[in-house]
Amino acid sequence: MQNRITELFKIKYPIVQAGMIWCSGWELASAVSNAGGLGIIGSGSMYPQVLDEHLRKCKEATDKPFAVNLPMLYPDIDKHVETIIRHQVPIVFTSAGNPKTWTKKLQENGITVVHVVSSVKFALKAQEAGVDAVVAEGFEAGGHNGRDETTTFCLIPMVAREIKIPLIAAGGIGTGRGMLAAMNLGADGVQIGSRFVASHESSAHDKFKQMVLDSGEGDTLLTLKELTPVRLLKNPFFDQVMAAYGRDASTEELHELLGRGRAKRGMFEGDLEEGELEIGQVSGMIDEIKPAAAIIGEIINEFHTARNEQDKFQF
Ligand code: NDP
Ligand code: NDP
Repeated sequence: MQNRITELFKIKYPIVQAGMIWCSGWELASAVSNAGGLGIIGSGSMYPQVLDEHLRKCKEATDKPFAVNLPMLYPDIDKHVETIIRHQVPIVFTSAGNPKTWTKKLQENGITVVHVVSSVKFALKAQEAGVDAVVAEGFEAGGHNGRDETTTFCLIPMVAREIKIPLIAAGGIGTGRGMLAAMNLGADGVQIGSRFVASHESSAHDKFKQMVLDSGEGDTLLTLKELTPVRLLKNPFFDQVMAAYGRDASTEELHELLGRGRAKRGMFEGDLEEGELEIGQVSGMIDEIKPAAAIIGEIINEFHTARNEQDKFQF
């Protein structure tokens, strides 16, 4: 497989593993890169020293390209940028912020920059800021999400017709058929998160991985738009959020209810009652924890099977 994305990242398959706080450390990122995709270390949950450690381990575990996701909301972002440059990380995916802020500095240090967006407007802004590619992420996606609820099925063709730089589709993709659909809509590659949460190498807690397997259609919802919109699995903490909306809670009350470290508690420490559990709608299709390499193998096989089926259509 060769296209603009495999050439840009120097990888075998146009499959990118999403940067996910508490779930994607060096072990998952290196496993995905070794299997021919692009692995990403999710740095949003890592103190600077922890990111340094993960970069060191990742470089020991793979000689293939890998990336770091840098959410711009991160409090010590200057330190993360310094660490990324010092480790000569080849690719950075920036998200949740203005792409103008860091793109130039990263590129001046030889780093390929990709920015994550959820709308046509921000895709154009990212292109203007000079990024090398964009990820357009639809409503189905887990974790942080756009406010407009544009689904991947609508977002990808709308972004594809507006931008010239390579486009990676995200949100609701976890299979080879999903990958083919996204590429038929105009994407050059796909970013997959939830499917890799349920992998052997993901740093998510085993209890959270099991809950992802057990969940079905309708078990996630996008909420907390007043703070940062986020798609969550329904659990007792989620019920508390719904109860707060039921009594017309103010933004301050919602903030207080969320508190600090809820995501760590749920996804990393396995507190399924009180923790925040971020996952995408595609979790309803995931029913087995597998090695990351097996997940990539399955996706590629299904992609080719589906393509061959398409070729046989009689029109
Ligand atoms: P580990 O998986 O053993 O994790 C190493 C350290 O990273 C541990 O201190 C762990 O914290 C923390 N950690 C592990 N996963 C995450 C994560 N996704 N987000 C935040 N912290 C995480 O591999 P190593 O032991 O080689 O990991 C080195 C360090 O990296 C560990 O301290 C590990 O906790 C951290 N790490 C951080 C990750 C992150 O996303 N921030 C992901 C993976 C590892 P602890 O065990 O103290 O809870
Ligand atoms: P909270 O404010 O609730 O908690 C901060 C968490 O981040 C704590 O668990 C803390 O670990 C950890 N952390 C790591 N580095 C730092 C630091 N330098 N200063 C303070 N805390 C740090 O935030 P969230 O858990 O909701 O989000 C954490 C980060 O992840 C943010 O940067 C956010 O933008 C990003 N994020 C990214 C998402 C993605 O999908 N890429 C999704 C959601 C959030 P500890 O408990 O060990 O102190």
